[in-house]
Amino acid sequence: MTVIWANSGDSHLLEPEGLFAERMPAELASRMPRSEKDPDGQWETIHIDGESFRRRLPSKPLRDEAEGLSADERAPGAFDPELRLKDLDSEGIWAELIYPSISIWNASLKDPELLKAGVQVLNDWIVEFQSHSPRFVCTAHVPLLRIEDAVAEVARAAEMGFKAVFMPVEPPPGMPGFNREDWEPLWQVLESTGLVIGVHIGTEAHDASTYNGQYHRGPGGAVMNYFETTFGGQRMAAQLITSGVLDRHPNLRVIVSEGGATWGPFLADRMDEGYAQHASAVRPKLSKRPSSYLYDQVYASFQHDRSAVAAHTAMGWNNVMWGSDYPHVEGTFGHTQATLRSLFDGVDETARRRILLGAFEELFPHVPAPPNEVAA
Ligand code: MN
Repeated sequence: MTVIWANSGDSHLLEPEGLFAERMPAELASRMPRSEKDPDGQWETIHIDGESFRRRLPSKPLRDEAEGLSADERAPGAFDPELRLKDLDSEGIWAELIYPSISIWNASLKDPELLKAGVQVLNDWIVEFQSHSPRFVCTAHVPLLRIEDAVAEVARAAEMGFKAVFMPVEPPPGMPGFNREDWEPLWQVLESTGLVIGVHIGTEAHDASTYNGQYHRGPGGAVMNYFETTFGGQRMAAQLITSGVLDRHPNLRVIVSEGGATWGPFLADRMDEGYAQHASAVRPKLSKRPSSYLYDQVYASFQHDRSAVAAHTAMGWNNVMWGSDYPHVEGTFGHTQATLRSLFDGVDETARRRILLGAFEELFPHVPAPPNEVAA
């Protein structure tokens, strides 16, 4: 069988243990987020600047295609960029938009000086990681506790060669909402540098003194907690549209990663309905209908969702793309080709190429095409 090549709009790097200890003063390094896993591999303790909470680790996924890996059986290339390329080749994954892992918890830091220093260390290391291959499109961290720090770091990241930033689905507690004018300098620098806004679901800040890894409890709680994480990305996309950010900045591009894709056309309809039918209360007025910004400037990545392809083929959203979530345990490692075959069985070549390669290439035109594109 021939390989189906796919770009991934949702991948991750695993930050090396000891990164902060090597590159920051000890007093600061010890306060950055870190994980301490239990010997049995079932739970971890997340430490964030003197606070900590417990979190259950993902176990082997239950899937038809193939058994997945558990947290202690990472993909061979999880920590090594050269081995990672071998993993990608064997899975049929070409280029990747790469998010952080443990540093997603930076959203919970409260000290702007610590965050600023930690983000600089991270971005310096991440750009070294990115330099291993043009197939790696890494997201830069943005210190969001002071807007001037955020603007300065985006400008620095662009200079360093980043093509995208990672942003959580909402600002840190105490900061203005992303719909507020305060953030205008950030949108300006992102647009002028051409960096894509990568929004990964499940990245809300948590108060580490109270967060226990669960919103819902009791019967159904695990699935409820999972799909609860989906909505933050949709809210952020809707906020950037309805507050006029994407209207004022027509060259800004936003991707919502790991949150499925069928929500896009649904959200577009709901925003248009509110905008037209409740017009007397609507501000600001936009140059176009809200749905136009979603269809033009917002992208989404899905991994297994069975209705996602139809968001493109049946509902007309061109910006649907696939994502592997490599090397996370809940991703497609070990069964990527089987997953792609089942998702794209009977889908025409043009639509398949758009979802698997084209939408990603539109966001990141510097990425080379896969070596031997072949029909499925
Ligand atoms: Mn992911």
